[in-house]
Amino acid sequence: MDLPFDGAISRYFREEAPKAVRKAIEKDDGNDILTASYPYREDMKGKDYDAHMAALQIELVKMQADVKATGKRLVVLFEGRDAAGKGGTIDRLRENLNPRQAYVVALPKPTEREASQWYFQRYIDWLPAAGEIALFDRSWYNRAIVEHVFGFCTEEDRAKFFRQLPEFEQMIVDEGITFVKIWLEVGQAEQLQRFLDRESDPLKQWKLSAIDVQGLAKWDAYCAAIDETMERSHFKHARWTVILSDDKKRARIAAVQSVLSALDYKGKDKEVIGKIDAKICGGPRLRPS
Ligand code: ADP
Repeated sequence: MDLPFDGAISRYFREEAPKAVRKAIEKDDGNDILTASYPYREDMKGKDYDAHMAALQIELVKMQADVKATGKRLVVLFEGRDAAGKGGTIDRLRENLNPRQAYVVALPKPTEREASQWYFQRYIDWLPAAGEIALFDRSWYNRAIVEHVFGFCTEEDRAKFFRQLPEFEQMIVDEGITFVKIWLEVGQAEQLQRFLDRESDPLKQWKLSAIDVQGLAKWDAYCAAIDETMERSHFKHARWTVILSDDKKRARIAAVQSVLSALDYKGKDKEVIGKIDAKICGGPRLRPS
């Protein structure tokens, strides 16, 4: 089987990955959590996950019905490192929702025309109308992180972004839109393990991109960009919810709980939503330093 990018991921694993990262992956028997600082050593049990997720799905359906009936507007923005689980989490959020009113916004890199516009402009088109839920799979935070790490924007572009950002997000909130910002955090070994899976699994290969491959060697640059971004964008009016996502199941549950907790809706059952696990879900301080 031809590996995507000529096997660049497995080559990085064999030849360049930090020793500790390689070792963690080599000694994994498939059940371990690879990140030493993660508050659990094993993934959540499948049957516990299935039962809770099934109940949360019903809450999501009630939430959407209420959003539609009352004309509320909801934005959930997902950010996180490559392979942190944004796509899978978004899939769980919308799997039982009416796609006409709950849609995913996963914009490609800006066209030449878009690149000449105000940076935030193309995102505004995708903000919700009454009764709609917009799920952003990546967002304007590209400028703060990936564009910076890869040099796709100038330092002035980025400085302007951070200048305009607080007001831009304030405007969204002032509009009466419920705005949830979720950052999915994943450890270096876990990320590499997920890339290796994507490389070898024909059904997952579409998820691998040139950015993922070139980003492997840029872990530290990403760390610096993310730290700075968290510091400069955890606003009172638009706070980050950070979810440690090495265990995908726990992360997905916490993400759905966070969304359901962000707004009131008819028939809301707080018992069913349950308590959010503060060990893996909280503010930016939860991120490993
Ligand atoms: P994803 O991880 O979302 O599947 P990629 O890994 O290909 O996508 O890219 C990560 C992000 O970087 C995407 O949001 C993409 O639009 C953005 N990106 C890629 N190339 C460029 C570029 N040349 N200029 C600006 N943004 C880019």
